[in-house]
Amino acid sequence: MTTKLFSCNSYETEFTACVTEVNKTPKGYVLEFDRTLFYPESGGQNCDTGTIYTSDARQWSVVEVFYEGSAIKHLIYGENPPSKGEPITGRIHWVRRYTHMQRHSAQHLLSQAFVRVDPAFRTVSVAMSSSVCTIDFEGFPDDDDIARAEALCNEICREGIPITVHEVDESEIGNWNVRRPPKVSGIIRLVKAGDYETAACGGTHLENTAEALPVKILRSEKIRGDLTRIHFIAGSEAFEDYIQKHEITRALSEGFSSKVHAIPMHVANLESSLSTAKQEIQFLSAMVARQLFDEATMKQDPLIIIEAPAVDVLKKLMAIAGETPDTVFAGFLTTESKLEVSLISTCPEKSMGDVVKKLQLTIAVKGGGRKEMARFAAQVADKDLIKQTLKQILSN
Ligand SMILES: [Zn+2]
Repeated sequence: MTTKLFSCNSYETEFTACVTEVNKTPKGYVLEFDRTLFYPESGGQNCDTGTIYTSDARQWSVVEVFYEGSAIKHLIYGENPPSKGEPITGRIHWVRRYTHMQRHSAQHLLSQAFVRVDPAFRTVSVAMSSSVCTIDFEGFPDDDDIARAEALCNEICREGIPITVHEVDESEIGNWNVRRPPKVSGIIRLVKAGDYETAACGGTHLENTAEALPVKILRSEKIRGDLTRIHFIAGSEAFEDYIQKHEITRALSEGFSSKVHAIPMHVANLESSLSTAKQEIQFLSAMVARQLFDEATMKQDPLIIIEAPAVDVLKKLMAIAGETPDTVFAGFLTTESKLEVSLISTCPEKSMGDVVKKLQLTIAVKGGGRKEMARFAAQVADKDLIKQTLKQILSN
């Protein structure tokens, strides 16, 4: 059994220990020490990472830490690991650990806040593996409940209540007002924030509630059965989130020349304008297509060739051609780098798929199709040659 140094002081970053096991696995060397500060992944909290080194300055990264029974295992990166019995010094990645402590402590304070808003809102499970953490509750807190829980949690944080750890025998657990009953027996580790919150927990926590500030609930959703999941962010990650979102809203605010609170109104106005513009484009495209098609058919050529000024016009032209009997139509659309050609036939004896195959015998074009419709892409420089070749193929 590994001695859990992280249980006594979550703020320690360096420790010495003795290697008690070394195993080679497909993922790398897995080491066990007589004691460790590295927190193993458990209870919804990520494991610590960091480095270990020996007195002769050999060094390895610790990339994963996990429980195997009561033993704590350390997966290291690198060859020639320290030997069994060799002393090592370990150093945890402090910023990562502290972030986990902020997430985890905020989770306790929020879970308690929800129970205080309504005793029915009991925490069922938590996930804290990324900056946006989640808590799953029984029941359905509404927007008002969520706002009250968030406000209470931040108020408790601002009070700067010390967070303490107590180890008590399971027989004494009834003397403590525990929000979450222990999942283990024997000596129980309780994490307490004054008279506000007590829960059985083996994780690492802050020393003071103020360090979790700010705590922000981002959204909630109903999940399987009668559970509600809230997504929250806390501490330095919440502050980073605020900085990012502030930059976005500042840019939008400057772009709209408006106050931040008016941005949703400006976006709604833009959406409305866009919808109107799309309708107008459809209407005008239909008009332009009809005019172009009528002008082209006046020439009475066996092949109607039209250069469409825009993709929407081309679509309308294809629709018109498809509804016009005994017509063979070639719509050309020139984009920045290439030429796109759409062929439509309502003449039963003329297959557009075959036309493309014949065209490919003399000009490098990519595409194909069926009897009524075909498409191909080509070089813009070949436009006139393609027009001429199409006329020749269709006149035979
Ligand atoms: Zn905890």
